[in-house]
Amino acid sequence: MTGPFKTIEGTYDVLPGSKNRVTCSEAWQHAEREIRAVMYRFAFEEIRTPILEPTSLIARGIGQLTDIVSKEMFSFERGRTSYVMRPELTAPIVRAYLQHHLAQRPGQQRLFYMGPCFRAERPQKGRYRQFHQFGAEILGADDARADAEIIAVMMAVYEALGVGKVTLRLNTLGNSESRPRYYEALKAYLVPYADQLTTTSRERLDRNPLRILDTKVAHERDLLHGAPRLIDFVDEESRTHFEILKELLQDLGLPYVEDPFLVRGLDYYTRTAFELEHYGIGAQSALAGGGRYDLLATLVGSRQSVPAVGFAAGMERLFLAMDDAGSVSQSGTMPVDVWLISLGKKAERNAFKLLQVLRAAGLRVCCDLGSRSMKAQMRLANRAGARYAVIIADRELETGAAQVKDMASGTQTTQPFEALAKYLVTRTS
Ligand code: AMP
Repeated sequence: MTGPFKTIEGTYDVLPGSKNRVTCSEAWQHAEREIRAVMYRFAFEEIRTPILEPTSLIARGIGQLTDIVSKEMFSFERGRTSYVMRPELTAPIVRAYLQHHLAQRPGQQRLFYMGPCFRAERPQKGRYRQFHQFGAEILGADDARADAEIIAVMMAVYEALGVGKVTLRLNTLGNSESRPRYYEALKAYLVPYADQLTTTSRERLDRNPLRILDTKVAHERDLLHGAPRLIDFVDEESRTHFEILKELLQDLGLPYVEDPFLVRGLDYYTRTAFELEHYGIGAQSALAGGGRYDLLATLVGSRQSVPAVGFAAGMERLFLAMDDAGSVSQSGTMPVDVWLISLGKKAERNAFKLLQVLRAAGLRVCCDLGSRSMKAQMRLANRAGARYAVIIADRELETGAAQVKDMASGTQTTQPFEALAKYLVTRTS
């Protein structure tokens, strides 16, 4: 052993009062509160699914040839079961929707979630092995208004948290019949250039040519300029759906840019695909992404298809974007209402009982659990941002009244023990 244990690379602890927003528990609470408030405003209901899922659900749902399934899954066997630590939540949510017959609930299902996800990627700024996603899904709606709702709720979260300068990129991927025709055309275009492609793209040429559009390599991007365009192969219905969605976004005043090369890293998307980017947070600029996934339910075993659309966003990248925007989030530890200071064993016992009485009255109260000097305890009260310090020593025990110090003004009064809770509650609420 060389010293104490540390967190595994690509994971981190969230601590009270941390200067770094990603690792600061108050920043998390603030963001989670705001996200929930936006979700409730848009009438989404919360869903929570297990971290462990059957590996085959993820493999089938996301697609064997995707990076996530082929090289980034944390999966392991126990007995005859293969488990995966979920890399995302859309496939698990569709599983839950089918398993619990949520389609029988009236109307469309509007679900939101927040929680950890796991991918064995190379850690770097904005990219972790345990990261956290929030997102929303609408299941049971093929109307383009569902796509617009999903984009609107996603944008509302960033607005609520003070993140401007975001770019919404939008594309349509067509349906499962039009896509193979595009694959063939793209392949036919790229094959003559195969020797100029990177190894990754060359592999994709046979297995998943659409993903080549995703390349960040400059000379490949140049090569793609002359490639056939997906939109020219898209079926009529998908094209109409896309036109309506764009009109709806215009109605809502949500700006977007059309990006014919936008594809997503997951196989299950049909029609709408989108990504939200922020260019001030480094190489990992994708804040969120999503789209329509009408085929996913059948991929994971449903006899009937379920039209659905959703978005998934990274919490850590949201924090980086908030940093870049200089957006305020609560930082520093939450101040307490009252700090109890006691001197002597008997006073300590009394103060300890009083703690619970004041808490029962709804106050946020704390005390030192050592036996420090009055000065040291006062310093702790200050550091905790206490509005009042309540002091109990021998004399207070004799008279049955505590000293109450208003920490901001420094004024001190005496209050009988039984009147303390009421006195403090009226002054702190
Ligand atoms: P995806 O499911 O790949 O579309 O990811 C949705 C969002 O999750 C991305 O836009 C990122 O914000 C976030 N994300 C994905 N992978 C990671 C990761 N390894 N570390 C941090 N955030 C991630």
